[in-house]
Amino acid sequence: MAGQGRSRPNLLVTGTPGTGKTTTCSLLVDATGLRHINVGDLVRTKGLHDGWDEEFECHVINEDLVCDELEDIMEGGGIIVDYHGCDFFPERWFDLVVVLQTDNSILHDRLTSRGYMGPKLTNNIECEIFQVLLEEAKASYPEEIVMALQSDTVEDISRNVTVLTEWESNWRRRPSS
Ligand code: ADP
Ligand code: MN
Repeated sequence: MAGQGRSRPNLLVTGTPGTGKTTTCSLLVDATGLRHINVGDLVRTKGLHDGWDEEFECHVINEDLVCDELEDIMEGGGIIVDYHGCDFFPERWFDLVVVLQTDNSILHDRLTSRGYMGPKLTNNIECEIFQVLLEEAKASYPEEIVMALQSDTVEDISRNVTVLTEWESNWRRRPSS
């Protein structure tokens, strides 16, 4: 089962770009001492991609290389993985899968101020409207470990960090199975 052999849990924080994954993960690291792995950064720094997608202006991630790179690290537990996709990681890696969600107009403003436009902007807004990441998470992991959290305001971020910090300390204190 998930979690067996780990003394601290592994979390996946996913959601459409701009929903606040990296911001939430950074604060969660401060609160818990867990280790944050930003998969986008890892792909860039280690070259775990198959080139550049001109239309969507992003690297074409090589999922096998990413999973190979992370396997040993995940085994040790205590990792927060941050990525806008979730269907290619081994299911056994995660004890909790968090899906951040943001109101469309708020997300639109965030992505615009990040410089997104054209198909990249449209694609991401549609991704959020159709709850693509929530559906992907539910299709890829047991439903009971998938937690959807709203991320519209800074108050939402604080509450989410509190909820996740409590979840993590409860996980460590759970009766071992
Ligand atoms: P992601 O990693 O999901 O792409 P970021 O954490 O980089 O998202 O956040 C994108 C931008 O939106 C940042 O400027 C961040 O400060 C802002 N932001 C994210 N979530 C919230 C929120 N819940 N309330 C206010 N601002 C937010
Ligand atoms: Mn990010």
